[in-house]
Amino acid sequence: MPVRAAMPVTVELRGAGDRQLREIVREGFPQLVRELARHGRALPRHVEREFKAYLGCGDAALGFAWLECGSCKHHRLVLFSCKTRGFCPSCGGRRMAEGAANLVDKVIPRVATRQWVLTVPWKRRWLLARRPDLADGVLRAALRAVERWYRGATGRPGGRCGSVTAIQRFGSAVNLNLHFHVVHIDGVFDRGADGALRFFRAAPTTEDIEGLVVEIALGCERWLARQGVAGDVEDAEPDDDAQGVLQLASLGGTVALGERAGRKVRRVVMLGGKEFALAPRCATFEGYNVHANVALPAHDRKGLERLCRYVLRPPLAVDRIERRPDGRARVGMKRVWSDGTGAIELSPLELAEKLAAIVPPPRANQVLYHGVLAGNAAWRKEVVPKAASSAEAAREARLSLRLVKKDGKRRAGGPAPGDGSICWAELLKRVFAVDGWACPSCGERMHLRAVVDGAGAPTRILTGLLRARGPPVAPPEGEGRAVYAGA
Ligand SMILES: [Zn+2]
Ligand SMILES: [Zn+2]
Repeated sequence: MPVRAAMPVTVELRGAGDRQLREIVREGFPQLVRELARHGRALPRHVEREFKAYLGCGDAALGFAWLECGSCKHHRLVLFSCKTRGFCPSCGGRRMAEGAANLVDKVIPRVATRQWVLTVPWKRRWLLARRPDLADGVLRAALRAVERWYRGATGRPGGRCGSVTAIQRFGSAVNLNLHFHVVHIDGVFDRGADGALRFFRAAPTTEDIEGLVVEIALGCERWLARQGVAGDVEDAEPDDDAQGVLQLASLGGTVALGERAGRKVRRVVMLGGKEFALAPRCATFEGYNVHANVALPAHDRKGLERLCRYVLRPPLAVDRIERRPDGRARVGMKRVWSDGTGAIELSPLELAEKLAAIVPPPRANQVLYHGVLAGNAAWRKEVVPKAASSAEAAREARLSLRLVKKDGKRRAGGPAPGDGSICWAELLKRVFAVDGWACPSCGERMHLRAVVDGAGAPTRILTGLLRARGPPVAPPEGEGRAVYAGA
């Protein structure tokens, strides 16, 4: 919570970790541009835009919205945020929190859910990272197999699944590693004899996953082949020479015959002299991996929100980055890898290079809805949670509208007069990410005093407001905010 004093100003500055990362990127990004130019290359425009926007994110000198509390005269300066989707930890963190809350409140039905993590082979990751249409098709192919399984297991051939997928483009080493996190209803919806939609649950076993991963891998590769993507996974039938069949399975490390036909040879992995138990409900085939061991009961909405935050998390957590005395960035791993790797170290140039790699293509959706949760699905209205506070939302909208009309200030480059205040209110929300208008001091609704931007003005005003005030109070861990309190 912000520290308060008489006539205080709350400035929503970023925390030390955020500033540290920005310093590294400010150093590494020009190096990256120079190095590429030396090789006669340049970053695509959308990647360059991403870096420039990130470097200005939360920079007080670029501008802010100035809010004032009518009852206690508390001032609050809300800085610009870049709203980029690539790697900004601050905007990514906000998007994660808002997105997870939205999924739990408005999208994911109140039924049992399961996370399905789908990883594609190395040779496919580069292609899927660059071609959103292919990533989309591969995901659809995989979800078709999953839905077939749920229908079979519940005995509801007309049942429909529903899922929300976050496409994660990164691994724990800030590496490009496109994979899918699917929050899936753990069963199907189907109409009963009385016409009402009902949920039928089915939970897969490890053996089920072992079968499914083969189906998913073959389905995805078949789909890719139809798009003209050449692959070395052959789904062609080998000729009738029986040895050929066995050789094909042997090459792929699978079993050809018996009840485990088509599945991986069971492996006992020894790590540090000890037997390594493979995770349950986790299986691999031809570089495709499916992990589906995280399941939540219908009532665990808190757990569901945690899961949603996890699948929507941004690639970089500033608290895992540390600047070393030699200028390198040390990025800590969440978990120590099996080979003992606990962190990686990157020079500013190397970090910029890794960040550039994970920026998504322009306009590619990173969150996708399927089945009954798709935007146009016939059963969607019947299955999603009922909006708890649509009255509250309407009230919010009215209030911000009134506030804008009363104030009437327009920023150069903002919507032209006559565009209507809804536009302006939306722009304000979008650009400044004002998360509520409550006064940090008394909780009353604040009003917009000014939107400040342009050469020099933000710095002059900020300096004036903060003159003769104490140094910033250090932000609490993970909060990402500093507060200047008045003397
Ligand atoms: Zn940002
Ligand atoms: Zn107040």
